[in-house]
Amino acid sequence: MAPETASPLPSPPPSSPVGAERTADPVVGAAARAAGGAARHRVLKFGGSSLRGPERLRKVIEIVEAERALGPLHVVVSAIGDTTDALLEAIAAASAADGEATGPRAAVARIAQAALDSAGAIADPAARAALAQRVATTLAPLERLLQGVALVGECGPGPRDQVLSFGERLSVEVVVAALEAAGLPARGVDARAWVVTDDRFGDARVQWGETARRLGALGRQWWPDERRGVVHVHTGFLGATADGRTTTLGRNGSDYTAALLARGLDAAEVTVWTDVSGVMTADPDLVDEAYPVPRLSYREALELAGLGLRMFHPRTMVPLLESGVPLRIRNTLRPRDAGTLVDTSGALDADRPTCVTSLEGMALIDVEGSQRSEGARIGPRVSEALRVPVWLEVGAPRGNGIAVVVAAADAAAACAAIERELAAELARGEVAPPRVSAPVTLVTLVAEAMGQAVNVAGRFFGALGTIGVNVRAAAQGASSRAILCVVDAADTAASVRAVHAAFNLAREQVNLLVLGHGTVGGQLLAQITSERARLRATSDLDLRLAGLVDRRSALLDVEGIDPGRALERLAEGAGHRPDDLLPLLDALARLPVPVLVDCTAAEGMEALYEAALARGIHIVAANKKPLALPLPARDRLLAAVRRAHRGYRYETTVGAGLPVIETLKNLVRTGDRVHLVEGSLSGTLGFLANAVAAGQPLSAAVREAHARGYTEPHPREDLLGLDAARKALILARELGLRLDLADVEVTPFVAPELLGHDDLPSFFAALEEADGRFAAQVEALRADGKVLRYLARVVLDGEGGPRVSVGPVGVPADHPATRLRGTEAFVAFTTERYAEHPLVVQGPGAGGAVTAAGVLADVLALSQGLRGR
Ligand code: ASP
Ligand code: MG
Repeated sequence: MAPETASPLPSPPPSSPVGAERTADPVVGAAARAAGGAARHRVLKFGGSSLRGPERLRKVIEIVEAERALGPLHVVVSAIGDTTDALLEAIAAASAADGEATGPRAAVARIAQAALDSAGAIADPAARAALAQRVATTLAPLERLLQGVALVGECGPGPRDQVLSFGERLSVEVVVAALEAAGLPARGVDARAWVVTDDRFGDARVQWGETARRLGALGRQWWPDERRGVVHVHTGFLGATADGRTTTLGRNGSDYTAALLARGLDAAEVTVWTDVSGVMTADPDLVDEAYPVPRLSYREALELAGLGLRMFHPRTMVPLLESGVPLRIRNTLRPRDAGTLVDTSGALDADRPTCVTSLEGMALIDVEGSQRSEGARIGPRVSEALRVPVWLEVGAPRGNGIAVVVAAADAAAACAAIERELAAELARGEVAPPRVSAPVTLVTLVAEAMGQAVNVAGRFFGALGTIGVNVRAAAQGASSRAILCVVDAADTAASVRAVHAAFNLAREQVNLLVLGHGTVGGQLLAQITSERARLRATSDLDLRLAGLVDRRSALLDVEGIDPGRALERLAEGAGHRPDDLLPLLDALARLPVPVLVDCTAAEGMEALYEAALARGIHIVAANKKPLALPLPARDRLLAAVRRAHRGYRYETTVGAGLPVIETLKNLVRTGDRVHLVEGSLSGTLGFLANAVAAGQPLSAAVREAHARGYTEPHPREDLLGLDAARKALILARELGLRLDLADVEVTPFVAPELLGHDDLPSFFAALEEADGRFAAQVEALRADGKVLRYLARVVLDGEGGPRVSVGPVGVPADHPATRLRGTEAFVAFTTERYAEHPLVVQGPGAGGAVTAAGVLADVLALSQGLRGR
């Protein structure tokens, strides 16, 4: 089923707590302030990774020392390192231990060891020994608890939370000891004394009214110590029911504890110190270029937490939203980094970075009703019947179907619930059984006020479409803060990268696979090298060489290739054979804005173009041959371009870098009627004509032109007029003429009998024989007041229909072609609008450098055209 209508999503999992805390705020902070009046409280939270090992703990002490100078300070700590996971493993091991009681001792020893490792930050041996003693005392009941679990063979949710509480309690002991050893007075606070919750063990809900009341009372008790500079160190993650049973707030709950404390104290700010420099624009494991977002709004952060950003406890934002206390995320190891600031407004500028998240391991379940089930409210009923968290829900029109995304682990339960709810319809065949696709990934882009920016959805889906990702379902949140889609698990990395690049990289990446490194290709590599930095700075374009192919080998590196080292790497024979480029195209197609750049003059490239287009790759070509193919083949190629909605630019096929094709296209597009196109299209033959007129023997002039890269790889193609004929044909076809190469009347520049040799040395030798005869012809023309030129003519409204011809002509002295110097080419368009004086394009029309520059211009024009912003 193609999900057609988006419901206001993401629908929070059924257990979502948002709003649960909206009780009257007793303004504890105001009371605390009234008691002291001075600087406002600050709350710092240190995650488990920040406390692991002596080095990190030392950094923590430094940070606390610096922050303590700014006002009364409260610190919230998580369990050290992966202590919580170790505790969960210990519970599992003890539950399975069959009464055997050696496991618990080992688990406790391991947890103690983590604490003692970090305690290495304490220099004084006596203080360290005292701490070791406290660690042992603290953990003694844990060992007994685990032994109890081993005896009973199971661990209920209540005891489980009790076991977990040891991680944070131990952490407080270590941090307090380390602070005191550093001369900073500190006092541990067991947050079970003030975080009051219900008894949903493992994921307890905070009762804010009672919590606030207790914080108010404790705040007054703490105040005299705060005034003396005592740092209060709280256990994160823990709470207790009103009657004193230990609970936990859910994984990563310490952030939430810090936010609750900040709200209660009306703190100036809460800082979460962690091991990354803020909320990243994407998962750095998936996207190399991910970087920290400077600012987020609470609601963006809330959205992110719900959609796969594992950084926050999902409820952390709630107390902050209610109180307006700003949250900062900073890196313990890089305290100078600015980090991310989360507050009410976030960043409002339109170009700010946005975050892309991916939630893997999901399942997409489709339920589709038939015509007979219209009115049976299939969608709403499924939605209500599901007893598992739903991450995305997209309804079909008129409620006659639905697609939902649930965790893959919940898929079976979800299907069972659906089948129960729709049992009657299923039995009557009015509804198809639920279809499950798994694993799939939920990819989400989150940005405040997204609905106010134009074309966000277009860019989002465009980025995915460009790399050929199949979007299985999609929705834009009614909040306009998130846009979500479901992709196959295998597409996760490519999707996140593509969306990230489309929204977050100030620079657009363009990835080139260059075919050929001869005259044009070689210059192109040089120009990429020399222009890259400037393009980055002035055009926000990151031009990357992704691959290079020649006749012998082929190379593609998704990380990009240094163009200066490309030939070397190609020579190293990176493995691919050039006769099967499809795997390279597959890889290229997965990169942002992939472009196949054909700098060869090879035959038969159209097959490769079509394969590239089918994969969503754009084409820029200096190669004329595919455009000069017989009409059916050329039509097929252009149809493939249209079908793929890709760019195919080939400006350099006529007049090298001169804007000939573009000019002609514009004339045609704007409805002008072209009567005549006349030109010296071959910079090469123009050069030769000039050289010979200046007295140079023909063979020497051809040698020079070849050496300078003005000719086709084999100069015969130029001298036969074949190359000029192809250009004339390209122009004629651009004008809509249905002609083939055979329809072009060609008079060669040099008699074809002289041009038989394939190998260049014999070819040049044979050419020498013609030198004398050729010089005589030129001389005869000169005597007549004429100049030798090789002209192409496309006559549209001649008698007997359109005519295309190329050949040598003696032009009179007043003809514009006589002015051409060096390799200059010119094209004159005589049209309805340009009737009296033709529109003339003139300039150097051959050579590697100008052609490569033209290729580059095509690449830039193409990527410019793709930018939706
Ligand atoms: N120690 C708990 C956990 O690992 C809480 C936290 O780290 O915030 O989930
Ligand atoms: Mg944590």
